Amino acid sequence: MSDTTKTYSARENRSSTEIPGGAREFAREFVGKFSRRLSRMVPFRPFNLKLERPLVSFTFDDFACSAARDAAPALEDAGMRGTFYYAGGLAGLLENGQEIARPDVAADLFSRGHEIGAHTHGHLDVHRTSNRAILEDMEINKRQIAELTDGRAPTSFAYPFGRLDLRSKFLLRQEFGSLRGIKTGVNSGIIDLAHLKAQELYDSSSTIESMNRLLDRVEKRPGWLIFYTHDVKRDPSTSGCSPAYFSAVVDLVRRRGLTVETVADAYARITGQASVAAA
Ligand SMILES: [Zn+2]
Repeated sequence: MSDTTKTYSARENRSSTEIPGGAREFAREFVGKFSRRLSRMVPFRPFNLKLERPLVSFTFDDFACSAARDAAPALEDAGMRGTFYYAGGLAGLLENGQEIARPDVAADLFSRGHEIGAHTHGHLDVHRTSNRAILEDMEINKRQIAELTDGRAPTSFAYPFGRLDLRSKFLLRQEFGSLRGIKTGVNSGIIDLAHLKAQELYDSSSTIESMNRLLDRVEKRPGWLIFYTHDVKRDPSTSGCSPAYFSAVVDLVRRRGLTVETVADAYARITGQASVAAA
């Protein structure tokens, strides 16, 4: 084979295997979308949940000062406690126009019986973050939460933005007992502890009547209903709710006599595993 032929062949090979930049980007986007969709459908930690009576949890993502100020006392007045997913990197900052609680607020909530869950330190979009960066960030998030909770490592996690893909889900499922997303629904039958379903509690998307109907369904077919919201204040954001609406839903749940627990306690109840772990 002459040098000329070799050169020609090399060029041919290169041009036949190289993918133009636009196509490469398209392929990456396609694989990413497929991975994200599949991660919501395929249970990584399937668990057959059989409940005689429904379980309800109230959860708060990020979390705003207003949730600590207005929602936590409403829960306490009803003898309930909530789960507050904490991203220390946001503490004291404005997120979507909401002031995010500082560490002392989280520590105070813990001392009153609420759970402080993990939410990454930097509020990461985990499907766009490398494994190494996720693990490094999670170490900070876990350590900070342990410092606020008498040395207890968090066992509950919520995916920031509700986003995940197969890789990040596989990685994070090993770090926590339960991981919650924002896929709407009630957890019943074969549930995925690595991607628990949840029900948003927003003034903008539900009414007290629709919540009443939802609770009817949950009582007919018992499951674990996990509410989530962000700010809880008058004139809430589109991803928050008003104190009046929040209290009304708490009251609906209370009058039905449903069991309300933090995510860690509910997880411990259904799996028979301890709800807290030493850091
Ligand atoms: Zn968040």
